[in-house]
Amino acid sequence: MQNNGYELRNQSEIREELIGKEFRVLDYGFVRLVDVMGEDSSICQSARVSYGKGTKTLREDDTLIRYLMRHLHTSPFEMVEVKFHIRLPIFIARQWIRHRTANVNEYSGRYSEMTDDFYLPEIHQIRTQSQINKQARSEEELDSNIANQIIENMQNSQQNSYNEYKSYVDSGVAREIARINLPLSSYTEWYWKIDLHNLFHFLKLRLDLHAQYEIRVYAETIANIIKQIFPMSYNAFEDYILNSVTFSRAELSLLQNNFANINFDEIPVDENFPKLEMLELKNKIKFINNL
Ligand SMILES: Cc1cc2nc3c(=O)[nH]c(=O)nc-3n(C[C@H](O)[C@H](O)[C@H](O)COP(=O)(O)OP(=O)(O)OC[C@H]3O[C@@H](n4cnc5c(N)ncnc54)[C@H](O)[C@@H]3O)c2cc1C
Repeated sequence: MQNNGYELRNQSEIREELIGKEFRVLDYGFVRLVDVMGEDSSICQSARVSYGKGTKTLREDDTLIRYLMRHLHTSPFEMVEVKFHIRLPIFIARQWIRHRTANVNEYSGRYSEMTDDFYLPEIHQIRTQSQINKQARSEEELDSNIANQIIENMQNSQQNSYNEYKSYVDSGVAREIARINLPLSSYTEWYWKIDLHNLFHFLKLRLDLHAQYEIRVYAETIANIIKQIFPMSYNAFEDYILNSVTFSRAELSLLQNNFANINFDEIPVDENFPKLEMLELKNKIKFINNL
């Protein structure tokens, strides 16, 4: 069934397709969906608890989810959870772990031996430092000979570090000490469980172009999975959070000064635009005009 720009498919079919499937990310990484608790209707079920009413139509569920998302009524989205098995380079794991609202259980380099998988960027990812964003790479790729040389150097030092590590382990040095010189490009793994509200927050931050490419590709893979399991919620997230912007008071003032007194009546009527959202738009315009 096609609906509001997304497809509603049989949930058990989707889960059967997705759970356990490994989606490859970067050179040796992956995202694997382990478990899901709840679906779009569970979000509505918990939101409606106050009314004690029974099952509603899909359209009513969709309208409710969109309302909740639009007005940041976030707690119903916390009622559903997803669990992933993720393999990722340690430098990305360090960024990822800053999202404190998840439950994590990580591979132990004290308990088990580290593998010799290391992340190596593709040649077109070897770029110059951005002059605009102090944290980021620019669009400018390095000369391919230089980039290839950098990749080769990185690979050699990864191999040397691993050889050193392996020789320590083989000679009986404790794994927790032997590993300390391994590079940040080493791969680690974890189980990561998070509710949908906090997952959307993670996606908002990590799908953004300001996020590092190597974490963004994981966020894109997760978004693609979530879109299928929670089609209504993901669609609402895309409409009201991911693809929306907020304006500061100063920015609104500036807009108001330059495009003074927008007349609500001059906005062409769009039959597809929900009546309630038209009313909300009217209130926003009133707010700007009164600044
Ligand atoms: C592009 C980008 C660049 C970044 N650069 C840096 C950097 O240079 N250095 C750096 O250290 N970090 C950096 N970060 C990490 C960033 O500061 C956040 O730590 C990270 O994005 C997690 O966000 P969060 O705290 O909102 O998420 P979560 O930890 O998932 O928390 C979600 C929300 O819960 C609430 N919350 C959670 N825990 C607490 C708490 N203990 N107290 C109060 N409220 C809480 C907050 O409202 C928070 O927004 C960067 C992030 C991004 C996206």
